[in-house]
Formats: sequence, C-alpha cells, structure tokens
Amino acid sequence: MKSKALLVAFLLLGALLLTPNAKASPTNLSGYTICVDAGHGGKDPGAVGYVVEKDVNLAIALKVAKVLEKDGAKVVLTRDGDYFVTLSGRVKIANSNNCDIFISIHANSGPSSASGFEVYHYYTSSRGKTLATYVDEEIGKLIPLRNRGVKSAGFYVIKYTRMPAILIETGFVTNSNDASIISDESYQWRYAYAVLHGVQRYFGVPVHDPVPTVENIRFADHGSYFRVVLDMSERASYHVYYTAYSNGYHLVIQVDNAQLADLGWPVYNGWYYTHTGSDTAPVIYATQSGSTVLIVVELNSPYRPYSDFTLSNPDRIVVDIYP
Ligand code: ZN
Repeated sequence: MKSKALLVAFLLLGALLLTPNAKASPTNLSGYTICVDAGHGGKDPGAVGYVVEKDVNLAIALKVAKVLEKDGAKVVLTRDGDYFVTLSGRVKIANSNNCDIFISIHANSGPSSASGFEVYHYYTSSRGKTLATYVDEEIGKLIPLRNRGVKSAGFYVIKYTRMPAILIETGFVTNSNDASIISDESYQWRYAYAVLHGVQRYFGVPVHDPVPTVENIRFADHGSYFRVVLDMSERASYHVYYTAYSNGYHLVIQVDNAQLADLGWPVYNGWYYTHTGSDTAPVIYATQSGSTVLIVVELNSPYRPYSDFTLSNPDRIVVDIYP
C-alpha cells in the first residue's frame, strides 16, 4: 500500500471510528513485585487432616499467583511444586527479589470443631497489618467460613522478610467442612480473587478482576482464506462487523471490556499498524479506545464473507476472511 493511501486510511480510521486512547491510566498491579509463598512442601507435609496442607497451600498459591499476574504484577513463587524449601530459603527469595509484599499461604489444624480463616502480620508491622486487614475482609466476602480475624505473630517468614508480609490460614484441614472448601477448585479461585482484591486495596488500585488483554495479534494468508488470531489472556466478548469507506473496506473485530498489550508494531495517531504482505488483507490496525479494543483489517474488495470462533485454553479469537 502506498504511503499516501495509508495516511488517508489512518485519517478515516481516526475520524470515523472512536477517538483512540493508546495509553491507559495505571489502574492495575503492573510495576509491583509480589512474593507468593506456598507453605511446607516435599518432606514437610504441614498439617494433615482430611486433606494434606502442603497440597492445598500449593493449589491456592498457584491460583493467587495467576490472578496477580493477570492484573499486571510480577510474581515470585518460593516454590511451584511439591518440594522442600527452608524457611530461610523462602525469606531469601523474597528479599533478594526486592518484593513489594509477601503473601504466605497456609492451612490450620486443631480440634475438629475449630473452623475458619485468619490472616497474620508481624507484631510491629503496621503496613503488614493494613495488608492483612484488607485481605481478611476480602476473603470474608467470598469464602463462607467463619472469619477469625486479623492476628499478629512472630512466624519466621513474616518476621524476616523485609517487606510488608502476611500469612493466611485459609481454613482447618482438621475440620471436614473447612477441608472440603479449601480443597475445592472453585473456592480456591475465590481465595485467589480475594487476595487480589485485598492487594489492590493495599496499593490503592481500584478493586477489579483482571481485564482480558489482547496479548498478541497473528495473521496468515492461507490462500483460500486469510486468518487473524487474537491471543487473549482470558476469554472476552467480541463481535465482528464490516465498515465501508470511500476508498476501502474494513473488517472490524471489536473486543469489549478489554485492553491491548504493546504489540511492538509501528504506531500512527494512536493506532498500531502492520503490513501483512497479503493481497486479501494488506494492512491490520489495532487500538485501545477506553475499555474497547478495535482491530481493523483493511480489505481489497468489499464485504468478504468471514467466519469467527473462539478457542479456549489458551483463549483465542480466530477470524477467517474469505476472498
Ligand atoms: Zn502451615
């Protein structure tokens, strides 16, 4: 495509579609490093009751890590499998990575009547107490167990880590109802979202669940069809439609309540663009406008038929355009 025609196309895009806003304001956890510590592991099972503590701790910790990462945080795990890490080894990992906060995941044991969750901070840490308070409140909103409240203690990992640190006792492995909740996959995700919300409050970020992100846009001309693939961080709602302009035809993929990652493409007037080398769809443009992501595929002939579908795990939006 010639550069003058490209410029005209950009002007039309800018004028006829939404006003682009490529730079979103910082409303997530990007820039923060968070250490997530799954208690026990390997030769150390932790408390044993209806379930084994080390297994539940790891399952919840990995989900906590996942949702924090989805909201932009950098996550450092002290363990990501069933192996033993010393307490001093855990502290070393958190301190040497200069983590901003430290979150340890444990489960409790006691008499069979004992039930509920509680969140610890180190005695003299006021920022730890603030973080513990927020996380405790958020767990209380999502988990149907007794809230035993915020407590202080001198546990090794919250004492020797140099950043605000909390230790969550998610429930009692020795109570059958608690054990069924902390070992349940969907409740484990609820713990993860509760921790996310507490951390967002701690850092002054509006409480929200992770926003689906268009992480990458791929394309290929397969001859009989031209395929556009959006790699999503998670499933999002979208729709596909055509728009016609005086000098061309565009297929628009509109992804709602989403954000656009840095595509690494050239940018003009707030729009990423790339030349595809295909005669069917020579240029693809992409921008974020508010909470909408627009992907515009320029076409060489009007109203080509298309099909679209989603693939999950990994979540993808696939649009095939037929010449
Ligand atoms: Zn423990």
